[in-house]
Amino acid sequence: MTLQVPFEHPLAPGPVGSYLAVVDYDPGNQCYYESVDLNDRWILANAGIAPTESDPRFHQQMVYAVVSETIQRFEYALGRRIRWRRRKYRHKSPFQGRLLVFPHGVQEANAFYDPNLHALVFGYFRASETDPGNNLPNQTIFTCLAHDVVAHETTHALLDSIRPAFMQPTNIDVAAFHEGFADIVALFQHFSIKEAVLEALRGTGGALFSEHLSPAAPPGKDGVRITAQIGQRNPLVGMADQFGDAIGLHRPLRSAIGTPPDAKALESMTEAHDRGSILVAAIFDAFFTAFVRRTIDLWRIAGISRERGEDVELHPDLLGRLCDEVSKTAGHFQTMCIRGLDYCPPVDITFGDYLRALITADYDTVRDDDLGYRAALVDAFRLRGIRPEAVTSYSEESLLWIPPESKHRLKLETLQRPDPNASEVEFAAIEKSNARQLHAFACANAKVFGLNHFNRRHIAVDSFHFVVRPNPDTLLPTSEMVAVIVERLEQPEKKGGGTAFGGVTLLFNEDGTLRYAVRKSLRNDRPEKQAFFRQLLWESVPRGAYEAMKTGQIDFRALHQRY
Ligand SMILES: [Zn+2]
Repeated sequence: MTLQVPFEHPLAPGPVGSYLAVVDYDPGNQCYYESVDLNDRWILANAGIAPTESDPRFHQQMVYAVVSETIQRFEYALGRRIRWRRRKYRHKSPFQGRLLVFPHGVQEANAFYDPNLHALVFGYFRASETDPGNNLPNQTIFTCLAHDVVAHETTHALLDSIRPAFMQPTNIDVAAFHEGFADIVALFQHFSIKEAVLEALRGTGGALFSEHLSPAAPPGKDGVRITAQIGQRNPLVGMADQFGDAIGLHRPLRSAIGTPPDAKALESMTEAHDRGSILVAAIFDAFFTAFVRRTIDLWRIAGISRERGEDVELHPDLLGRLCDEVSKTAGHFQTMCIRGLDYCPPVDITFGDYLRALITADYDTVRDDDLGYRAALVDAFRLRGIRPEAVTSYSEESLLWIPPESKHRLKLETLQRPDPNASEVEFAAIEKSNARQLHAFACANAKVFGLNHFNRRHIAVDSFHFVVRPNPDTLLPTSEMVAVIVERLEQPEKKGGGTAFGGVTLLFNEDGTLRYAVRKSLRNDRPEKQAFFRQLLWESVPRGAYEAMKTGQIDFRALHQRY
């Protein structure tokens, strides 16, 4: 397949662009591999290096393309440029302000985002000798060649740039949200590949959500004789297929619809990926349901009754139309899921908060839910026992974030709007000045925003963005603002010690009036709850993935072991 990525100039060998720098250093073998120059005329003439496992330059091209594609999707959905979290560098780095990507960074069956290095590290390893699935025993598996894995890790980095405080595991859902969300973005990317969608539609007779494609030839009375009689796994709903095989799972690492609806499942699941898979399943349940409802008319026109489960050869025209509907619906859902991030609280997220954020964000973009997307989401979350706190029902009105009671206006005259092409230094200066004013605004309205105003130094402006979105009523582009305020409070020993994280996400209209204030107040029992959860991490789950979180920050390297 060919990926379309935005044109970048300048693009140095590496590739090193404005967002990312691919550094192909292999610490295991203590060597650098020759870096690819995508501006080389031979490579340009061939539209890139053809896929090959044996040329590290293809690996570099692959990670560059997938990371860029994922960033582009975020920028499209969020309506603004992505800025990585600024770091304090001890040494001056030539790659300052860029995400580092190491395609061969570690020799283990793992890949992870390292927030301290600000890097994506991809591992390589040998497939199982005794149980390698579809791979050769001991075959070298490169995680940087798995589209899903690259998109997943990039999403961790992007999510960290949008909500840095989600790196603090303050409740059981936070790490699970990071994992689930990264899977959601990676899985939706599958549905933009037209050839794969057509193939899956053909193989599943239009039931895209099936785990398996039907074989090209049905098995005879004497069972399977030739390869064409063996059904393949549906590549659209599985994630990291080769990786799962190579470590002996006999299945993709994870699946879009891995968990059936069960209102009790969340109660017993504590592991981040297990919990995350419930979030993934809820989103994809809604997506597939919306797709099925959206295409009922097409089946009727084609005269095919779906109830009887007829196994018919679908007409190419019908396949083409179904394929269009899939990509439209997938595009809408992916955008909705990413846009919802701007409506999430600054810290301490729960799955229920995310549902409310999704519903509100979509309501702000499309007033009428005539395609039933929001209804499908609410049903899918409800069936999986995901309950938002402090709402009276699952109705749309009660799930929407509530606008603040009194009218608060931010004085816009003094706020500066950075030029999208501003340099890092210019941008930092503008950001600092805006942050100072927002800080004053937040402190002045501390009580309404649920902040403690006795010490202003505990309150910090984590990020502030201008966003351009189409107005749902006029369809003209309107500008909005999103500010993320985080409060960090050291707790006395009698309250469990440690740091409690609270804050508020503020969404403003173009004229500076406050639309929503999504609060996580520390003026209630939240500090105690967070201290209790930290204690739980220390004591009751001493081993396994949660071990990593003891340091106070999610450690993806440990969390991703064998996941
Ligand atoms: Zn992950």
